[in-house]
Amino acid sequence: MFNKILIANRGEIACRVMETAAKLGIRTVAVYSDADAGAKHVAMADEAYSIGPAPVAESYLKIDAIIEVCRQSGAEAVHPGYGFLSENPDFVDALDRAGIAFIGPSAASIRAMGLKDAAKALMVKSGVPVVPGYHGDNQEADFLKLQAGRIGYPVLIKARAGGGGKGMRRVDGPQDFAEALRGAKREGEASFGDGRVLIEKYLTMPRHIEIQVFGDSHGNAVHLFERDCSLQRRHQKVIEEAPAPGMSEEMRSAMGKAAVTAARAIDYCGAGTIEFIADVSEGLRADRFYFMEMNTRLQVEHPVTEMITGEDLVEWQLRVASGEPLPKSQEDLSFDGWAFEARLYAEDAPKGFLPAIGTLEHLALPETSARIDSGVRAGDDITPYYDPMIAKIIAHGPTREAALGKLLASLEATEVAGCVTNAGFLAALCRHAGFAGGEVDTGLIDRDLEELIAEPAMPEDTIALAALTALGLTRPARGADPFETLAGWRIWSASRQFALLEIAGDRRDVEVHAL
Ligand code: ADP
Repeated sequence: MFNKILIANRGEIACRVMETAAKLGIRTVAVYSDADAGAKHVAMADEAYSIGPAPVAESYLKIDAIIEVCRQSGAEAVHPGYGFLSENPDFVDALDRAGIAFIGPSAASIRAMGLKDAAKALMVKSGVPVVPGYHGDNQEADFLKLQAGRIGYPVLIKARAGGGGKGMRRVDGPQDFAEALRGAKREGEASFGDGRVLIEKYLTMPRHIEIQVFGDSHGNAVHLFERDCSLQRRHQKVIEEAPAPGMSEEMRSAMGKAAVTAARAIDYCGAGTIEFIADVSEGLRADRFYFMEMNTRLQVEHPVTEMITGEDLVEWQLRVASGEPLPKSQEDLSFDGWAFEARLYAEDAPKGFLPAIGTLEHLALPETSARIDSGVRAGDDITPYYDPMIAKIIAHGPTREAALGKLLASLEATEVAGCVTNAGFLAALCRHAGFAGGEVDTGLIDRDLEELIAEPAMPEDTIALAALTALGLTRPARGADPFETLAGWRIWSASRQFALLEIAGDRRDVEVHAL
């Protein structure tokens, strides 16, 4: 096992990795940008090194600077977290050349899964089902249109280098094809420097179900069951759960097998996720799931798998990267109960999910009822430079209903002051009848968005308390002077005072009577 590792990341995932490292007696090295000098991950690490200014291109993405810190600190391995350099094969090559271990797969595995068309072609060859479509080399517009007709509308055009939902266009009929193709190519070119596309059948009732896989350097590969990430907004996951509601043993086993086959096809070593899309237009069926892509790193939502399996996936990553075999075989793995993860963000849901910034003046997270993975503390700033995540709230219970109830209670107990959050939106999702009933699909949030982001009326007692506070009537008494103690008291008649409050953009005059 390693003695010292560097974590090339920030925020909650850097803190998450450090927790396991500390548990295993491994010393940790943090790197940070100027904006993060006082951040939680810097405080948690045994050593910390500044690597540049706030913009990620000048700090967290600087391969040379990170390797230099490994040399200075004597770190033997690098954990990349997710995002940043985690799926950059050039980074892995550079670490190899410097004789530093990468806590993740080989550069070749990352490259094999890096482009959607090549990955899909490889999966077809390995016998893993993919969405019917065309992922070949011919990129002529007329030829692609012919392919779309053959597949059958609606189809989805995807930039082969795409990610984060960029470079995707749904096309409902041949008349719209040419323009959508130009749009997808333009976006692929602009965002990824690659205008090549693939075309696949657009599924109208899909669920996103992914399988956690693990491989080691001894030729073993296992899966740790599924996660359902169908609750999405603009292709971004909002609440994830494990296991997937309505999943049969037959389908679980078919998906697990397909995922392990995919991992084996690229001699995969480390933690990975095979993302599948399931066509649920006729319910979950073992013959209707298709490979979408592989993420060759730890996922944001890995905690739900940890909660139901009782395994520490970061510990698995560290063991495998240091050359140990997988801690468990497929037969030894099992799961128990149900887990949900909600992503608490500094964002304004009713205002189009606008990212928010600010200082977290007050932060109380429900640590007793849920697992909290967070990279910020009260007093920290949410800056515009990075992902505005405040915390992941993870609830586990014996049944889906119990776990969801716990998640809702935890969200209701979450207190954040200093910037707006999506806590209300997440709580509304937990109360959504379809979601509560396990009827999830990737279109759920969009269909019911208005209801989900409706701002609840401010409770009258909250308004009354705000008015009293604004008028200084809630200050504790400072001395024995009765005029100090009886702040609202008047000698001749009851006191009447007015407070002008702004409630969600509306001004309201509140009259306060002291009787
Ligand atoms: P990206 O790499 O840009 O995230 P993905 O291929 O992973 O793109 O797809 C992102 C999301 O788009 C999926 O989670 C799903 O919601 C939707 N999606 C992808 N492929 C299809 C499809 N064939 N039909 C319908 N929806 C799809």
